[in-house]
Amino acid sequence: MQVTTHTITLRTTKPIEIIDITPEVTAALSASGLQRGQLTVISQHTTACININEKEERLLEDMETFLKRLVPRDGNYLHNLAPIDGRDNAHSHLIGLFMNSSETIPFAEGKLLIGEWQSIFFIELDGAREKRSVLVQILGI
Ligand code: ZN
Repeated sequence: MQVTTHTITLRTTKPIEIIDITPEVTAALSASGLQRGQLTVISQHTTACININEKEERLLEDMETFLKRLVPRDGNYLHNLAPIDGRDNAHSHLIGLFMNSSETIPFAEGKLLIGEWQSIFFIELDGAREKRSVLVQILGI
């Protein structure tokens, strides 16, 4: 059993942005040389999540609209009274309650075992940001 760790660095450009990181995760798996096992993809932020869903342009717009409606940016949020991160981002944290920081994905014969219509998304909830980090830890043989 071997363990390897890779970092994916992203720059985001919008308040809410859904970015397909399947190619980067696939590249990390290839670089590891591992054939069978599982990997964990984790966002290292409290206002950005990892989610597996379908990549279809109009659906991505629907998702963005849905998240904005779910928790409006303007509200009477206590977190925004004295934000320790210098950002009025209570709404971003609250949207994050409904998603995961990480996803675990099995792989075999060096390929991710995800479905035909599944993509791995990094979901920015408090952009734009110059630098966001996603860790990929791969366990396998
Ligand atoms: Zn905050």
